[in-house]
Amino acid sequence: MTTQLLTDLTVADICDGFVYNELEGKGLFGWGGKLVIQPEYQRNYIYADGKRDVAVVESLLKGYPLGLLYFVKTASGMYEVLDGQQRITSFGRFVKEKFSVADSNKMPQYFTGLDKEKQEKILNSKLTIYVCEGEEEEIKDWFKTINIAGIPLNDQEIWNAIYSGPFVSAAKAEFSNSKNAKMQKWKSYIKGDERRQQILSEALSWVSKGAIKEYMSAHRNDTEITELKTYFETVIDWASGVFDGIEDEMCGLEWGRLYETYHKNPYNKAAVWARVRALYEDGFVRNRKGIFEFILGGEKDTRLLDVRVFEPKETKAVYAKQTKEAEKKGVSNCPLCALGHAANAKRIWKFNEMDADHVTAWSKGGTTDISNCQMLCKTHNRAKGNR
Ligand SMILES: [Zn+2]
Repeated sequence: MTTQLLTDLTVADICDGFVYNELEGKGLFGWGGKLVIQPEYQRNYIYADGKRDVAVVESLLKGYPLGLLYFVKTASGMYEVLDGQQRITSFGRFVKEKFSVADSNKMPQYFTGLDKEKQEKILNSKLTIYVCEGEEEEIKDWFKTINIAGIPLNDQEIWNAIYSGPFVSAAKAEFSNSKNAKMQKWKSYIKGDERRQQILSEALSWVSKGAIKEYMSAHRNDTEITELKTYFETVIDWASGVFDGIEDEMCGLEWGRLYETYHKNPYNKAAVWARVRALYEDGFVRNRKGIFEFILGGEKDTRLLDVRVFEPKETKAVYAKQTKEAEKKGVSNCPLCALGHAANAKRIWKFNEMDADHVTAWSKGGTTDISNCQMLCKTHNRAKGNR
């Protein structure tokens, strides 16, 4: 990575061709069109509060430094503001007469209302700018380092900057656009904020099977996002086709993986949703997020549901009762040992040598309450569990 320190650029240079989008609250371009002030991965302009924006202008008027600004030089020869967007947008808006500051008589003054000397002072203020250009990994490290102070950029925001180009632009127009009519539906399935690129990240993760960077690199100069879009919509259509409703726990599931694993199986939509409802009402299911894959997989893997287990006070009570009765009969307190003729037929196991077992398995309708609990020696419990 190469860095270059620029100390001769002035506020006037950066304000040359300054474009501010009032509607979207974004400073867009400056420096004669060479500078992208708010790349998509940046937060919106938040200094327009009559305090922070005014403070920027007052700093310039007093000759205070504005602090370091960081630009990244992109492959296309443009520059993007990495850090300093709020400060630049503030002075840009002031010079373009978007807000006023109070003068020494407490009178609000727009830029052209200031005396000539003050106007010149602002326009001629020199800025300290670091420009960085280089390999993606280095820039990524640098992004991370300088963002420690602010809200850190997430991986997708960084990758969007590194792989910026027609593909990223088209992908963002689809997946990072809050005005996209499909966004609300998508967010029933995907957790995150489209403005922080989290919907896009998920879409890329699905189509690339997790190899987001490689995919972005390979498609960097594509002008179309057909494959990304088609795959994403296929997954969403499949999920909404199999599950005939929306539950909170469906948001954030690994739909891409579920689609790859299960989409060739036939499912009856009505029957599937009836099972979802039934499992939601089953008080023994502790992990509702697991319900969906449990059903997709044919209701075999109960570990997905984290079914409630017996609590110690329940198992201790069952142990005491079972042991007392066994001692009276002179047989083992493990009912399965007691049936046999081996050496353990009369053995009284200690509490910690036994495990709780559902007499009737949960999957066959057995409940997790004391009437359905028996203590078995560890060997027998393991043998039963494997059946
Ligand atoms: Zn036993």
